[in-house]
Amino acid sequence: MSVNPKSQMFHGILLYRKNYREHDMLVKFLTAEAGLKMFFVRGANKANFKMAGDILPFSFGTYEGTLRPEGLSYISSGNDVKHFEQISNDIYLDAYATYIMTLIDAAFPEGVKINDWFNRLYYALNMINSGFDAEVVTNIIEIQLLPVFGVAPDFKSCVICHQTNKKFDYSEEYGGIICEDHFNMDPHRMHLDQKTIYYLRLFSAVNLKKIGNIQVNEKTKKKLRSVIDKIYDSSVGLNLKSKKFLDQMNDWKINLK
Ligand SMILES: [Zn+2]
Repeated sequence: MSVNPKSQMFHGILLYRKNYREHDMLVKFLTAEAGLKMFFVRGANKANFKMAGDILPFSFGTYEGTLRPEGLSYISSGNDVKHFEQISNDIYLDAYATYIMTLIDAAFPEGVKINDWFNRLYYALNMINSGFDAEVVTNIIEIQLLPVFGVAPDFKSCVICHQTNKKFDYSEEYGGIICEDHFNMDPHRMHLDQKTIYYLRLFSAVNLKKIGNIQVNEKTKKKLRSVIDKIYDSSVGLNLKSKKFLDQMNDWKINLK
């Protein structure tokens, strides 16, 4: 007996869309019920398509459709769909949000339930949409995704002696922070200042749902960007277009100043 999955309600955050054939679209969602899913949306590129508003970039909400275990899934309607308006209206916020979404898309296989990350993505986008520093939110997501990418740096205590209240530095060789007593163990340690270390440790442990505003000065933000890039380049090795765009955008910003 073949089993046809039934239509069901699901919670989704739209990650991206791409045109498919002449009139159709493929739309990727992170769903609470079944993780990452690609949907085939027939007629999405036709004028007067009835669900046009439900699959705009930065949509999220409750949908009805068929979640297939393999291959493409289907959406039949959007029931309570909202949009992250501020993100859609701002090219900078858009670039940060898009990068976060492509990063999560790259981190997990399709169809695996990742409820925790559904929530984290929702909080992250909500924070960016309501004016929280997009760079800080992005750094938090990047650091917290490292274990998912198989890199689990220890930011809690010195990887050698496990002290927690010392001056620290980051060591790529040891995959975590080392305390000042052990700086001599890694001649290639990153020589980070204590403020940057403080934020790395905070970002690795913070719960996005519970944080208030975090103010990080520009100088420290640059250092955080550079450390996280180093860790991603040497240990994760992604090559995301959305990250390149973000970097280019920040270069223009600097050049315009
Ligand atoms: Zn130590």
